[in-house]
Amino acid sequence: VTGQVDITKAALEPFENIDRIITVEMRPPSLPQGYVPRLYAAARGTGGPLVHRVGAALAALEPGRVAIVTGVFAPPYLAIGEMDGPIGATVLGAALSRLGHEVEIVVEPVQVPALRALCAEAQAPGVSVLGSDEALGGDAASYAATLAAAISIEKLSLNREGIRHSVLGSRLDAMDPDIDRIFTELRRLGRPTFGIGDGGNEIGFGGMAEAVRQILGTAADCDCGCGSGIIAGTATDHVLPCAISNVGAYALTAALALHLGRPDLAPEAEVISALLLRGAEQGLLDGGTLDPTFLGDDGVPATAICAIVTLLSTIVEQQSRRLAERPF
Ligand SMILES: [Zn+2]
Repeated sequence: VTGQVDITKAALEPFENIDRIITVEMRPPSLPQGYVPRLYAAARGTGGPLVHRVGAALAALEPGRVAIVTGVFAPPYLAIGEMDGPIGATVLGAALSRLGHEVEIVVEPVQVPALRALCAEAQAPGVSVLGSDEALGGDAASYAATLAAAISIEKLSLNREGIRHSVLGSRLDAMDPDIDRIFTELRRLGRPTFGIGDGGNEIGFGGMAEAVRQILGTAADCDCGCGSGIIAGTATDHVLPCAISNVGAYALTAALALHLGRPDLAPEAEVISALLLRGAEQGLLDGGTLDPTFLGDDGVPATAICAIVTLLSTIVEQQSRRLAERPF
């Protein structure tokens, strides 16, 4: 029928547009560029928009305990941590909590106060923050058994040799060595796991390690001599490569809003602006510049981050807008 709207296609387009937005790189030249669209394409394969698929899996979860694992910790450079990860965990965690999940954000012990301040700022009283020592209690498998699902946001993964690296190839040993086991154990139990990352070295990319190796080439090399480079060894069922991991989390939050017809869940630029300020106050640094006077995320200024969030929330709002039909 001429002029009839293809509902199935129309329903996918907002997700396609979100995917486009979150794969746009705006990094400063100090960070690797040009890889995200290729990591995204490899993760997507021949299927539909990634945030549609990953968001659908997240939206389908029965209410239960969900761990969100995040927090890069690399003293002395990141003595508390970086912006990327904690703010996305707060925003996505708040949305999941409002959907009835018991959300636990699991971070390095030194990061607990910062995450609690972020959750207070986001008015997410239902979200708990636990240090990895407290959550795991030396027994990651037992902790994993209490979970319905787990989400990693920008948590650096152990590589095949059991070593974590920065995206630039430096060995990082300060993070909890048992964190990855939450994901391997949940996968063994057949419970859903999600990974959001922007470099190929984060939890989740282990499931597409060969593609990451081919895409990164020599950019995957490390300087510690372990022989396996930065490529993640830990897999998740769903992987969302994006230009900034926090933005991937905001996008998944928007996808939840679209899937569930809950525009009230969409991320809000004003909230994220406030969270960036609160994060800075707590000592979280922009990971792109490590400059405490630069307010931003992965080297992208806060104004641009908020503009991206405005685009994401606009996509959600436009879907729920009911206007009079155009008469011609
Ligand atoms: Zn190495």
